[in-house]
Amino acid sequence: MNPLTDSDKRKGAISVRGIAEVENVANIKKTFNRHLHFTLVKDRNVATPRDFYLSLAHTVWDHLVSRWIRTQQFYYDQDPKRIYYLSMEFYMGRTLTNTMTNLGLTQAIDESLYQLGLELEELEEIEEDAGLGNGGLGRLAACFLDSMATLGLAAYGYGIRYDYGIFQQKIADGWQVEEPDDWLRFGNPWEKARPEYLLPVNFYGRVETARNGAKKWVDTQVIFAMPYDTPVPGYGNNNCNTLRLWTAKAPQSFNLHSFNSGEYISAVCDRNEAENISRVLYPNDNFFEGKELRLKQEYFLVASTLQDIIRRFKASKFGSTAHVRTDFTAFPDKVAIQLNDTHPSLAIPELMRVLVDIEGLKWEEAWDICVKTFAYTNHTILPEALERWPVATLQYCLPRHLEIIYDINQRFIHLVLEKFPGDMDRVRRMSLVEEDGDKRINMAYLCVVGSHAVNGVARIHSELIKSDVFRDFYAMWPEKFQNKTNGITPRRWLLLCNPNLSELITEKIGFDWVTDLFKLRGLESLQNDQNFLRELMKVKDQNKRKFAEYIDREFKIKVDPSSMFDIQVKRIHEYKRQLLNCLYVITQYNRIRDNPQGKHAPRTVMIGGKAAPGYHMAKLIIKLINSVGRVVNNDPIVGKRLRVVYLENYRVSLAEKIFPAADLSQQISTAGTEASGTGNMKFMLNGALTIGTMDGANVEMCEEMGRENMFVFGMSVDQVKELGQRGYKPREYYEKNGELRRCLDMIRDGAFSPENPALFQEIYNNLVNHDRFMLLADYEDYMRAQEEVSAAYMDTNKWAKMSLLNIAASGKFSSDRTIMEYAKDIWGVDPHGIKLPAPHEKPLSDEAAAAAVAAAGNKKGAK
Ligand SMILES: *Cc1c(COP(=O)(O)O)cnc(C)c1O
Repeated sequence: MNPLTDSDKRKGAISVRGIAEVENVANIKKTFNRHLHFTLVKDRNVATPRDFYLSLAHTVWDHLVSRWIRTQQFYYDQDPKRIYYLSMEFYMGRTLTNTMTNLGLTQAIDESLYQLGLELEELEEIEEDAGLGNGGLGRLAACFLDSMATLGLAAYGYGIRYDYGIFQQKIADGWQVEEPDDWLRFGNPWEKARPEYLLPVNFYGRVETARNGAKKWVDTQVIFAMPYDTPVPGYGNNNCNTLRLWTAKAPQSFNLHSFNSGEYISAVCDRNEAENISRVLYPNDNFFEGKELRLKQEYFLVASTLQDIIRRFKASKFGSTAHVRTDFTAFPDKVAIQLNDTHPSLAIPELMRVLVDIEGLKWEEAWDICVKTFAYTNHTILPEALERWPVATLQYCLPRHLEIIYDINQRFIHLVLEKFPGDMDRVRRMSLVEEDGDKRINMAYLCVVGSHAVNGVARIHSELIKSDVFRDFYAMWPEKFQNKTNGITPRRWLLLCNPNLSELITEKIGFDWVTDLFKLRGLESLQNDQNFLRELMKVKDQNKRKFAEYIDREFKIKVDPSSMFDIQVKRIHEYKRQLLNCLYVITQYNRIRDNPQGKHAPRTVMIGGKAAPGYHMAKLIIKLINSVGRVVNNDPIVGKRLRVVYLENYRVSLAEKIFPAADLSQQISTAGTEASGTGNMKFMLNGALTIGTMDGANVEMCEEMGRENMFVFGMSVDQVKELGQRGYKPREYYEKNGELRRCLDMIRDGAFSPENPALFQEIYNNLVNHDRFMLLADYEDYMRAQEEVSAAYMDTNKWAKMSLLNIAASGKFSSDRTIMEYAKDIWGVDPHGIKLPAPHEKPLSDEAAAAAVAAAGNKKGAK
C-alpha cells in the first residue's frame, strides 16, 4: 500500500500544479454541478452513480469542443491531404479516461471529484465499452486513430455505428452464452448526431444503358445514412480529429406503396427492416460468412463515406473552381483512402461508378484516380477468412457494381496477357472472377488491382503474402507490395492502464516516451541496477494484487498473487492454439500429481476470449478449458501449485486490467497463421515475458529484445510448410510421446467430463487424425520452453532483468511508428503532421505533462 494518506497525496498534487490548476479544479466542479443540474436534471440527493458519470463525461466533453472545432476549421483553411481510414470495425473501448489522459485533465478531475466526495475509479467503471469490433483488426483501427491525432495528421475514421457491438460473453456451466451488447441503452455522451448531413445509399434495382452507352442504376431502394461524429483527441497537442460512424435511417417514403394501399401500420413497422443495416456487428473474427446483410453493411459504409469524401473535396478551396466541372485529377493529391482489409473493398467499384456514371469521366481517367487514391491492408492469409462474394449476391444487391468489377477484370486480364503472352493458366489463377463452382468475386484480388499499395501487418506476413496469396500479383507489380508492422498506442496501453509502471519509467528516463516510445531503450542501462529491478517487480506485484482482487470480486475466484500469472487472451480460434495451452495445463497437472513433492513453480493459468457464436469447435474448446479448470482447481493434491481461470467476457476494458498484471504472455499460433498479433505487444510493453512461436510480430519482438529474452519454441514457417508437404501424421506424435498420449486419452475418455465421457471425443479425434494447426508436432518443444519459463520464474532476479529488457525493447511497437510509415510510404504526407497554431488554452507545459504522466489514472500525485 502507498504510505501517503489520500489527503497528503492531494496536497502534494495541488502544490505542484499551482494556482492555474486550482482555478481549473474550481471550474471543473462548477461545470460538473451545472451538468448534473441542467443536463441530467438531478440534485445530489437523487443522483445515481451513472448520473455522476454522465455529468463528468459532459464536463470532459466541454473541454473537447473548442479544440475539435478549431482543428476542423484549420483543416479547411490549410486544405492538407486528407487521410481516410475505412474500417467495418473500430474497437474503441472506453472514452472517458482516454480523453482525460490525452487532454491532460486527469489530475484536475481527480482532485475535483475528491472535493465533491466522488471516486474517479468508480465512475470510470460505469462506462460501457464501445465494442464495435471483434479483436485485433478493430482494435488496430482504434490505435491508429489515436496515433493519427497525436501526430497531427488530417485524418478521419469512417465506420458503422452498430446498435449492438460484439456480444457480451457469459460462461454458464462452462459453456459460452451470448448476450446482446446494448451499449447505447443509457445514451452515448461521446457522440454528436448530425441528422442534417443525411446521405442516400441505393440497393437492388437494375442497370439501364442509354443510347450513348452511358450506364444508369435505376429502380433502386434508397436507405439514408446518418452520421454520428466522435471526437478523437491527440495526446498533448490540442488536435481533435473525427471518427464518423453511419447509422441507417429509412426514408420518409419507405414502403409508401403499401401505405397508399392503406397498410399504414405495417408500412411504419417495415422501416425497421431498412434500419437493420446498422443493427449489429457480425461477430466473426478471421472468418467470411457471406451473408447478404453483411454485404449491405459493407456497401452502406462505402457509399456514404465516398459521398462525404467527394463532397469535402468539392467544397475545399482546391476542388471548388466555382461553376465549372470539378477537376478530379487533383483528387489523389488531396485524398488517401486506406482499406482496413477487404471489408470496404466495394469502395473501388463505387468510386469508379461515381466518377464514370455520375461525374462523366472517361474510364481510364477514373481508373488512374482510383489506383492512386486507394491502398489496401491485408490482415490474414487463412483461406476461410478471405472474402469471396457470390456473383449472384452481387448481381441482386449491387448490379452496377458487378458490371464494373467485370469491366475492371477484363482490362486487368488484358494487362496480364500483355506481360505474360499466352499464359492462360496465369489468367485463370489471377482473374477476379472465380469460375469453379458457384461464381465468386475475389475481393482481395480486386483490392490489389485497384490500389497503388498493398501491405501486410508484420514482416513475416508481408513476405508470405508475396510468396503465397498474391504470388502472381507480386510477379506483376512488385513495387506495390509493402510491410507495415502493426503497433499499439502507448497512451492507452501503458500510460493509462498501468500508472504505476508509467510513473516508475518516467522517474528514470523522463516522460518523452509517451510520444516517442523508442526512448524506452534508455531503460537498458538499468538492467543491473538491483534497486530498480526490485522496484519493477514491486510494481508488477501491486498490479497482480489489484487484478487478483478484481477476479475475486467479479468472478468469485481466489488466486495467489505470488504465483506466475500465465495469460492467453485473444479470440478463440483453432489457429491460435488455445488447445495447445490446454495440453500444457493437463501435462503439468499430471506431473504434479505424479510427483507432489517435486519443485513446481506455482502458476495461475488464465485464458480468455470470445468464440464466434457459430464456431462449434471454438465453443467446445471453451467448455474444455473450464472443465479442465474444474478438475484441476478442486484437486487437493494440486493445491496452490496450479490454478486455471477463465477470464469471462474479454474486451478492451478488461484487457486494460489484464496486461499490467501479466507475468507470461502466450503467443503460440502455428507459424504462418497469425498475421501480426497486437496483444503480444501490449504484454511486452507492460513487462510480461513471452512464450511464443516464430509467427507474426513475435519475430520482430524477438529481434528487438534478443532471443535470450523470449521463450521461443516450435516449427518455423518453412518447417510447417515442409511437414505439410511431407504429409503430416499427427498420430505418430501421439504414439511416440507418452505424456502427450496420456493427455489426449484423458480428454477422450472423459477425465474432465465424467458426467458425459464422450463430450470431448471430437477434440481427440480432430487432433489425432487431422490437427490442421499441428499442435502435436509442436507439443514437445512447447513443454521444453515451458520448463524454461518455470526455471526463469524461480530466479526472480533473472526474471526482473528479462522483464526490463522486454519493456526497453518495445519502442518499435508504438502505433505512432506504424502510422509514420504509412504516412511516408503510402499516403505521401509528412509523417510529423501539421501543427495547429497555439490556442487560447495553452497546450501542456513540460511540467504539466510530467505531472500528468505521473498522475494518469492513479492517486499518487506528482513529485
Ligand atoms: C489487442 C486486443 C486483441 C488482439 O489480440 P491478439 O492477441 O493480437 O489476437 C483482441 N481483443 C482485444 C480486446 C484487444 O485489446
